[in-house]
Amino acid sequence: MSDYKPRLFIPGPTEVFPEVLEAMAGPVISHRGPEVQEVTADVFSQLKVLFGTTHPCYPALSAATGLMEAVVRNLSNKKILATVCGAFSERQYQIAVKNGKPVDALRVDPGLAVRPEMVADALSKGDYDLVTVVHSETSTGVLNPIEDIAKVVGEHDDVLLAVDCVSSLAGAPVKVDDWHIDVAFSGIQKALAMPPGLALFSVSPRAMERSLGMKNKGQYFDFEVFAKMAAKNQSPATINTSLLVALRFQLGRILAEGLENRWQRHQEMASYVRTRLSRFNLFPEADFMSPTVSVFRNETGINVGQLIDAVRKTGKLFGNGYGALKEKTFRIGHMGDLQMHHMEDFLDTFEDCLAATGA
Ligand SMILES: *Cc1c(COP(=O)(O)O)cnc(C)c1O
Repeated sequence: MSDYKPRLFIPGPTEVFPEVLEAMAGPVISHRGPEVQEVTADVFSQLKVLFGTTHPCYPALSAATGLMEAVVRNLSNKKILATVCGAFSERQYQIAVKNGKPVDALRVDPGLAVRPEMVADALSKGDYDLVTVVHSETSTGVLNPIEDIAKVVGEHDDVLLAVDCVSSLAGAPVKVDDWHIDVAFSGIQKALAMPPGLALFSVSPRAMERSLGMKNKGQYFDFEVFAKMAAKNQSPATINTSLLVALRFQLGRILAEGLENRWQRHQEMASYVRTRLSRFNLFPEADFMSPTVSVFRNETGINVGQLIDAVRKTGKLFGNGYGALKEKTFRIGHMGDLQMHHMEDFLDTFEDCLAATGA
């Protein structure tokens, strides 16, 4: 791994190292029967450690967006409070709308974090049964204070909390039980450093109870079906068994590194990138910055698209701003299995290309 040259410095999908790819390359196994059951059982227990929970955790054959749909379908029959601080949390709000769920958006300007007081205020005014929050808003680089938001939500007995941990899980502390999160979900192509194709989620007993009473929740993402099949160490439909086998391998590597060490490594890479590029202002507000992605303001009129093309010619890729923030910002992902020396090497290239543009 030490002389391997990663290419992906975008905030997902992230670089997948050869040993993880090799773990996918064995013969395809049946999605039923003892072989897959053994793998699934291991993944179930590894996921509990990763999510910091005793609640059941499941892999799903889906992009993470599927689970954004799952949470509104399984968890709300009254009204949702969808906090919105950027493009991914906006997507969660839109998914509620498209599913015909009553929903209010609680919006903050991009770059700002959702504050617990705002959630408390909104909850005191409406008859909600679910709050949605993104942990690391990958489009703005903000890390929301989930623990504090969860405390506020916890003051309301029948309000559940669903948290999008797609670009935080395995790169920043996520503590489902300590923080009292009802459903936390993620993909595997961000800080888990795997190819895209599976999503992961935890379900609290309250959330499962809510799902049991829910009408019109469909089949594919019904939590009840996941629980029923999990009792047999299986998945509801044909899972991607190659990815599942690789997931067991990669979760083994992640837990062997140690979650605390992994979080620390991400924080160190973030600090390094921000220090070295300190001539650029950061987009997210201070004290609420995600350790997995740095979003910089482009205030000096750099042509970000051209800079990306120049860097791409060296075999490396970083990210333009997301959506409306394109060209106004640029994004560097420092997550997954990337190490400090990879970031050093990437920034050497980045600075060379930047200098060559005359900036
Ligand atoms: C990448 C990302 C998603 C979407 O993940 P998909 O697997 O593409 O559906 C959702 N939320 C956040 C915060 C993300 O970073």
